[in-house]
Amino acid sequence: MPGSRSYDLAVVGAGVCGLAHALAAARRGKRVVVIDRDAQANGASIRNFGFVTVTGQQAGECWRRAMRSLEVWIEVARAAKIPILQRGLLMVARRPEARALIEAFLETDMGAECRLIEPSKLASFGSGLRTGEFAGALHSPHEARVESREAIPQLAAWLAERFGVTFLRETAVRAASPPKLETSRGPVEAEAIVVCPGDDFTALHTDRLARYGLTRCKLHMMRVRPERFDERLPPVMSDLGMIRYLGYAELPAAQALRVRLEAEQRDHIDAGVHLIAVRSADGTLVVGDSHHYAATPDPFAPISVDDLILDEYAHVFAGARPQAVERWTGTYASAPDRLMLVDRPCEGLRIVLITSGTGASTSFAIAEEVIAELYG
Ligand SMILES: Cc1cc2nc3c(=O)[nH]c(=O)nc-3n(C[C@H](O)[C@H](O)[C@H](O)COP(=O)(O)OP(=O)(O)OC[C@H]3O[C@@H](n4cnc5c(N)ncnc54)[C@H](O)[C@@H]3O)c2cc1C
Repeated sequence: MPGSRSYDLAVVGAGVCGLAHALAAARRGKRVVVIDRDAQANGASIRNFGFVTVTGQQAGECWRRAMRSLEVWIEVARAAKIPILQRGLLMVARRPEARALIEAFLETDMGAECRLIEPSKLASFGSGLRTGEFAGALHSPHEARVESREAIPQLAAWLAERFGVTFLRETAVRAASPPKLETSRGPVEAEAIVVCPGDDFTALHTDRLARYGLTRCKLHMMRVRPERFDERLPPVMSDLGMIRYLGYAELPAAQALRVRLEAEQRDHIDAGVHLIAVRSADGTLVVGDSHHYAATPDPFAPISVDDLILDEYAHVFAGARPQAVERWTGTYASAPDRLMLVDRPCEGLRIVLITSGTGASTSFAIAEEVIAELYG
């Protein structure tokens, strides 16, 4: 019975954001309950690339949070036996303007441990790329890639086993104000509450969330089986990613690349398409993505958008165009002016939303900050 115990902290939402808060509180010895309406994780946190990205995050807080979250991912992955399938990032430059942007990025503090790879040296990262057609590449050592659909359930199971975190699944929360939550399975008592609802802005504290101008972003994703894939290859991105990821896109040198891409890849830009390709244990690649914004994204996934993603893939990877063996869409919260938000309606209650595609990369650090502030 949910109401038969009381907790120090109740977390609404068992995505990566909610689990990160459960971890931060449990590490402080708090008795934590995580409540989610779904039977198992089904939101953005299992639909993403599992790509914990540091290089390319916006300079300042976001980059710092990504660096800290990466540390936590590495610790947790070891403890919870979550495989890290790839490390680092290879950002290939198909154009001289992209190479110039990489060079400008390397001048910043964020470029400290990264380096420019000349085309002739790219083979050391593995075969399978159209290296002869690149102007160079950026290598970052930081990133980690996990298989989210397995990692998130493993993380939840480890939190339950290691810290005694209670999970109430198939339980919708209808009201959440400390010290009480009203759920579809009865009341739950908790001294403090953190609501991590992902892109659901309508169930809880709608009045508070209404002030942020939130919308939702729909992304196309697919899994492909490439002709060959070299295990040495890190996660791969390309020029289109450099005008989306703010760590590069906010540098003055991005302007020349943007102008050229707008002339040469207008359809890709209109569909918010860029390339991320990460490897799974079975040799397939998770490839994406696109960005379409709406209050209620439609459920349709036109093949034309997938074709744009595969078109960019074909400019980066050698060999025949691969067959998609799986396709899906995902949605995340988006705000016009911020990458995340922490709302404080009253003492003991926090609402935390990642309002950008950075939750896998920043949630652990954000949760540490929220829990530290909550408990003083
Ligand atoms: C396709 C895709 C690719 C992405 N790629 C990356 C990437 O490479 N790197 C990166 O860092 N980020 C990436 N992201 C973003 C990242 O996945 C999200 O920022 C992150 O998963 C958000 O986590 P969350 O816990 O807030 O939301 P979610 O995972 O959506 O979880 C929210 C949970 O709250 C529950 N919930 C909501 N309301 C209630 C209620 N009233 N009662 C009970 N339960 C409730 C839902 O059931 C859900 O389980 C990607 C996202 C998508 C969709």
